[in-house]
Amino acid sequence: NRPPRLHRDFIRTRTSSPQNPAIRVMQWNILAQALGEGKDGFVRCPLEALNWAERKYLILEEILTYRPDIVCLQEVDHYFDTFQPVLASLGYQSSFCPKPCSPCLDVHNNNGPDGCALFFSRERFQLLATNHLRLSAMMLKTNQVAIVATLRCRATGQVFCVAVTHLKARSGWESLRSAQGSYLLQNLCSITSPPNPELEEAREESEVGEGLPLLVCGDFNAEPGEEVYRRFEASPLGLDSAYKHLSADGRTEPPYTSWKIRPSGESCVTLDYIWYSTRRFNVDAVLQLPNEEQIGPDRLPSYHYPSDHLSLVCDLSFSHQPHRLQ
Ligand code: NDP
Ligand code: CA
Repeated sequence: NRPPRLHRDFIRTRTSSPQNPAIRVMQWNILAQALGEGKDGFVRCPLEALNWAERKYLILEEILTYRPDIVCLQEVDHYFDTFQPVLASLGYQSSFCPKPCSPCLDVHNNNGPDGCALFFSRERFQLLATNHLRLSAMMLKTNQVAIVATLRCRATGQVFCVAVTHLKARSGWESLRSAQGSYLLQNLCSITSPPNPELEEAREESEVGEGLPLLVCGDFNAEPGEEVYRRFEASPLGLDSAYKHLSADGRTEPPYTSWKIRPSGESCVTLDYIWYSTRRFNVDAVLQLPNEEQIGPDRLPSYHYPSDHLSLVCDLSFSHQPHRLQ
C-alpha cells in the first residue's frame, strides 16, 4: 500500500499572456540507481523503496505530473534503457552526457555511468546545436560534465540556450566547484554569442549586441553562500535564480532542495538551481516545495518520493516578443 504523492501547487508570480505561452522547465537530480542502492547510505530509507522496477515509475510520474517542456536531470544511469525510450514515446527529444569516471561504475551490477540528461518537447522546439562539456578546473579536466542545447521555438522563432550540469559533491571541494562554475560560465558566454554563420539569423532576432537568452539548470552541490553561487549571480550573463521568487522578499533561496539522513547525520540543504537571463525571461510561476510534514521524519528518498533531491519546476516566458514571426 503506497503512500500518496507529495502534493505541490504552483505559485503564480505573474499573469502570462496567451500570445506568449510560458516554457515549463524542470530541474531534478533523480538519484542514480547504483548510488542509491550501493553508495549513498540513506539509513532511514528502506532498500525496498529504492527497487528500480517500481522507483522508475515514481520518477516518470513526477515528470508526467508537471509535463515540462524542458527536463534537466542529473544522476541518470538508466538513460538508454528507460528515460530515452519512454520520454521519446511521449514527444521528447534528448541528449545524454555520461560522467567520464562515474562512481556508479564501482557498484556491483551497475547499469553503466551516470550523467546529465536534457529532454525537450520536439513539438515545441527545434534543436539547433548541442555541446557536451567536460568541465575543467584550473586547466585540469574534472569528472563533471554539462550539456548545452541551443533551441528554437517552432511557433515564434525565438532562439535560446539551455544548460544542465552537476558539479562536484561534498565539503572541502568549494574551490573546485567555483572553478568548474567559471569554466561553465566562460563556455556559456561563447556559446550564447556564437561566431557561427548558421546562427547569425537567429542572433538578429534577439536583441542586437546581446547574446542568446539562457537557462542553466543544475545540482551545484553548493549552498547559496558559496563562491560558485556568487559567481553565477555576478556573471556578465545577467543570471538570477528562479526559486528566489518563492520567498517573501523575492531575494532568498528556499530553505532546502535536498533532505536526507546518512550515517554522518541529517542534511537539509539548498543545492539545486534554475538560473535564467533576467533581461530575457520572466518567471510566471514556481512549483512550491513540500513542507517538512509532507516529507516525513525519515526524509528522502522514501516510498513517497524517489530521490533525495526535490524537483524544481518553473514557468518562464520571454520578456519581449521576437522582432519578426516566422
Ligand atoms: P562526487 O564527489 O561529485 O560525488 C559523486 C556522487 O556521490 C554524487 O552523485 C553525489 O550526490 C554523491 N554523494 C555526495 N555525498 C555523498 C556521501 N556523503 N556519500 C555517498 N555519496 C555521496 O564524485 P566524483 O564524480 O568526483 O567521483 C568521485 C568518485 O568516483 C570516487 O568516490 C570514486 O568512487 C569514483 N571514481 C571512479 C573511477 C572509475 O574508474 N570508476 C575513477 C575515479 C573515481 P549529490 O550530487 O546528490 O550530492
Ligand atoms: Ca546523489
